[in-house]
Amino acid sequence: MDINKIRSDFPILARTIYDKPLVYLDNSATTHKPRCVVEKISEMYYNTNSNVHRGVHLLSQEATQAHEDSRKTVQKFINAKSENEIIFTRGATEAINLVASSFCREFCTAGDEILVTEMEHHANIVPWHLQGDIRGVKLKVAPISDEGELIIEEFEKKITSRTKLISVIHISNVLGTINPIKKIIEIAKKYDIPVLIDAAQSIQHTEIDVQELDCDFLIFSSHKIYGPTGMGVLYGKEKWLDKIPPYQGGGEMISSVTFERTIFNDLPFKFEAGTPDFIGSSALATALDYVSAIGMNNIFDYEAQLLDYATEKLSAIDGLRIIGTAKEKSSVVSFLVKDIHPYDLGTLLDRMGIAIRTGHHCAEPLMRRLGIEGTMRASFAVYNTKEEIDILANGIERVSKMF
Ligand code: PMP
Repeated sequence: MDINKIRSDFPILARTIYDKPLVYLDNSATTHKPRCVVEKISEMYYNTNSNVHRGVHLLSQEATQAHEDSRKTVQKFINAKSENEIIFTRGATEAINLVASSFCREFCTAGDEILVTEMEHHANIVPWHLQGDIRGVKLKVAPISDEGELIIEEFEKKITSRTKLISVIHISNVLGTINPIKKIIEIAKKYDIPVLIDAAQSIQHTEIDVQELDCDFLIFSSHKIYGPTGMGVLYGKEKWLDKIPPYQGGGEMISSVTFERTIFNDLPFKFEAGTPDFIGSSALATALDYVSAIGMNNIFDYEAQLLDYATEKLSAIDGLRIIGTAKEKSSVVSFLVKDIHPYDLGTLLDRMGIAIRTGHHCAEPLMRRLGIEGTMRASFAVYNTKEEIDILANGIERVSKMF
């Protein structure tokens, strides 16, 4: 992999921050965009902008073609069986809300349970609470070890006759833990319970094959895999998407409407009410093509080197404690330094041009489980380098000495 070439594809990496070269280590929050993605967006607005579906004119047909081709690109990227299983959403959050709302409406009554883990992002907790308010659905929570690994035996014990869905994070945005999702799905199959995989932090780091995994739902956001914001994907097995009701109503998702009733459109349109983000979908497809050209396995191996290097470098800093030491980890290092408040350290690193994230990372229940208020988090993407990790380590040492 030619990292200099890859870096040159991302114009923002050439920026300076307070006259220092930008060291961007906040990739779990969002990744930067390669030139081809940004150019795709402007090219579409300049040449192909027109509302999709049902347009008789050429521009509309071209925009429709681009949107539906993008669906096929996503389908291929995660190896879904059919393009009908790919629903475009506004992001990972909307995708989980869609499943929570539609799945629970069809299948859940008061007292039914959704099984999650202690390391979930709020996006995989709050939508179920909303269903708790509406339908009396309850969350069951599988525990993790102090190292940040799911305790798989305890996980299985949490399954009851009321468990209607298992909804788990693939890679933790805080701990970097790679959860054993194959094993989780295997266990779920024994009890005939469907599984939703939150792939918001894995789609950009590791190859995902939904048929091989045999998961029932999988969700991710485009902006975390070098694509545009405001765009996401819900993968769902056709048998589930056929059974669950639409999430929102409006144009596009209907086949016929009278004042008395609506007949819904076929998949995937049944779940895409209103004008879709056909420019976002095209730019997401460009991002996925970009990633595919580098090769997901190359990305995984390179980022594993970055993680090992960062773990070694940061561990050597006096008073630094890494939060999350699972055996299987990816691309994320959370840490605390002595009793320095994460906000203070993050602010001082920013003055050195280093962007990391501080706080609870939308995982307050996990923070409570770990007995901390927040962490500093450095997270890596394919364009990061060992030199940047050196700059981070030096920066932390400097701040640490100041306190
Ligand atoms: N799940 C996980 C694990 C995440 O890290 C995030 C984003 N931080 C989300 C869900 C939600 O993604 P979005 O905000 O793009 O909808």
